[in-house]
Amino acid sequence: MPLVTTTEMFKKAYDGGYAIGAFNVNNMEIVQGITEAAGELNSPVILQVSKGARAYANHTYLVKLVEAAVEENPQIPIALHLDHGDTFELCKSCIDGGFTSVMIDASSKSFEDNIALTKQVVEYAHDHGVVVEAELGTLAGIEDEVVVESGKEAYTRPEEVEEFVSRTGCDSLAIAIGTSHGAYKFTAAQCTRNADGILVPPPLRFDVLEECIKRLPGFPIVLHGSSSVPQEFVKMVNQYGGNMPDAVGIPEEQLRKAAKLAVCKINIDSDIRLAMTGTIRKYFAEHPDHFDPRQYLKPARQAVKEMVAHKIKYVLGSDGKI
Ligand SMILES: [Zn+2]
Repeated sequence: MPLVTTTEMFKKAYDGGYAIGAFNVNNMEIVQGITEAAGELNSPVILQVSKGARAYANHTYLVKLVEAAVEENPQIPIALHLDHGDTFELCKSCIDGGFTSVMIDASSKSFEDNIALTKQVVEYAHDHGVVVEAELGTLAGIEDEVVVESGKEAYTRPEEVEEFVSRTGCDSLAIAIGTSHGAYKFTAAQCTRNADGILVPPPLRFDVLEECIKRLPGFPIVLHGSSSVPQEFVKMVNQYGGNMPDAVGIPEEQLRKAAKLAVCKINIDSDIRLAMTGTIRKYFAEHPDHFDPRQYLKPARQAVKEMVAHKIKYVLGSDGKI
């Protein structure tokens, strides 16, 4: 099948109590690793491109890589999504350039300005058969060019969601319930430590999520910043010359719980970066004489595939849901 929008996949995910993984793509190995896992597990998948990815790899290259993945995995629904579009022009460029879904993130603006910009994108997108994700509330952390200092984040105010969705006509809504961008999601001061000295983050605000669900029955909710920062890969990075002290993510069981509720899209990026980096660092340490990029990118791609397969089976629950 050709690239699809997220409409059908979200409807099935909402009714079925699972979520679709939205994984960021930046190069061929990442696209291949993600879609090979999704293809083998018969899972729908969202490939998302940030402004930074577009600047790194070029719009045309990314679209063509995704088109190749669609051709290689004809049995699974694949959507191509713009992550954190910050202007109408960027969203328009992706809509005109073959994306099936865009996010307009005007969450740093006032409520009225967020509505105005989101509505403008929705009107253009819907005229072109493309769906729109919007955001209310602000996540902490760093994602490409989106930087929010810890302490400046704000949970979504549930009393605003109905008015926002009805006035903008957006198709899905990203909310802030305590997830965070990047591999350093929380400061040590925000966490407790377990017996192994590993940081344990504060729990997600399921009360905020439940209140949003009550006010928007049947409406797909999106969680950004939902990597779990698996300690095995943090350890691998640190063991082989890296330095990532106190990297910490969202526990997978909390994401699984959210996926069973109205959360239909869960964004995962840092875990893929960690898996690739840990694997490549280990490879370099063990094979100091190797210099063919295929030698270390092959296990890196395999690590992406295994990470995504794990997420599909144990966090998202989207396997076999085509
Ligand atoms: Zn995000």
